Amino acid sequence: MLIPCLACESRFVPDEYFRACSDYNRGLDLVSWTCPRCGNRDDLRVLPGELGFGYPYRGRFAVDDRLRVPGLSRKRGDLRLDISLDAGRWRVSTRIRQFI
Ligand SMILES: [Zn+2]
Repeated sequence: MLIPCLACESRFVPDEYFRACSDYNRGLDLVSWTCPRCGNRDDLRVLPGELGFGYPYRGRFAVDDRLRVPGLSRKRGDLRLDISLDAGRWRVSTRIRQFI
């Protein structure tokens, strides 16, 4: 299946789509996604069988739009999220922030 950018509506094969994910935020359980075509940045939550789109609300991430992706699964780690779909595997790392 192809996964669309919600801004420019370009459609991507899963490998191209998930390689554009970066910076897993474990607290809010979301990843950042930057569209390879239009550069739009979105936050999304990877869920079993679907992607959740939404917005931060009162310290949480409220999902208000879901896209079904049959077979999608995920495994949460301390500093990473492992995503798998069919034979594909992608690892999204947490960007380490230094507070001084
Ligand atoms: Zn786009």
